[in-house]
Amino acid sequence: IDPAVYVRKAIRSVPDWPKPGVTFRDITPVLQDPRTFRVLIDLFVYRYMRQRLDLVAGVDARGFIVGSVLAYELNLGFVPVRKKGKLPYRTLAEDYTLEYGNAAVEMHTDAVRPGQRVLLIDDLVATGGTMLAASKLLQRLGANVHEAAAIIELPDLGGAQAMRDSGIPVYSVCSFS
Ligand code: 5GP
Repeated sequence: IDPAVYVRKAIRSVPDWPKPGVTFRDITPVLQDPRTFRVLIDLFVYRYMRQRLDLVAGVDARGFIVGSVLAYELNLGFVPVRKKGKLPYRTLAEDYTLEYGNAAVEMHTDAVRPGQRVLLIDDLVATGGTMLAASKLLQRLGANVHEAAAIIELPDLGGAQAMRDSGIPVYSVCSFS
């Protein structure tokens, strides 16, 4: 069986959460089972092991889980892209719009050095708002965003395609329509 299909089969679809009409793609069963967790991380490891990266940046909060394990396996450092107001030192923020209201992601100003090649990772790309804001923030810090990686992309929402159109490659293990 294709490892990406093996991972996809372990993702749980929860109807009407967090609100009616929305189906939430729940990755907790992938993490809970040691075999699917390993297959998932190994997919990313094999993709990025020869890519001469400098750093992995994970998006709050599920991007921390896969991003930190991946960084460790690739012998790279890990930096968090956090929700606003969580980081203690000097920060830079990037605002973005949600379906209802606004949000912001934040990083420490010394999290990346100019020119560093960074892999950005989160669990899922929907509208792409979160990943795009994180990419812009990294670029404002001088980073070279090598690729944005996710376990899942939702192609119907067009976010991953919008990122590709704006010049940032996006890799996802699987998609749901
Ligand atoms: P976007 O900004 O692309 O619209 O939404 C992506 C962000 O929302 C990601 O940080 C992701 O964790 C979260 N998210 C939105 N919908 C889902 C979902 O169905 N499943 C999971 N696991 N995360 C989601």
